[in-house]
Amino acid sequence: MLQSTLSSIREILKAKAKLSNEKTEELLSILSMYNEKDIIYPGVLIRKLNISMKETYSLLEKIKEDGHLSLNYEMYCFSCNQFTGDIFQTIGQIPEEIFCESCGEELTPIDNSIAIYKVKYVK
Ligand SMILES: [Zn+2]
Repeated sequence: MLQSTLSSIREILKAKAKLSNEKTEELLSILSMYNEKDIIYPGVLIRKLNISMKETYSLLEKIKEDGHLSLNYEMYCFSCNQFTGDIFQTIGQIPEEIFCESCGEELTPIDNSIAIYKVKYVK
């Protein structure tokens, strides 16, 4: 992410999130490694920042509201325990019949879609 974006996110987090300064800086340093269109998996932030899933989604939503991220859904196979790489902008766009390419397991739009965030560069 660009320095100007990171400064803007720092302001949002200070104003709206109850995150310690230490974790805020840690989060910014993680975000600095992402480029435009990269996917941020909430699980990565949960692990690296050692915060709850709820808190992680709340932080990502705040950054999204400011226009730096877009919400997408990626299909996840619980048999293979991996993301399939199929990404959709809304749950409604997910086909009713979709299968894991690795193991053939049938995936359903509600049970197998995981919210992920894509980096958007604000111009
Ligand atoms: Zn699978």
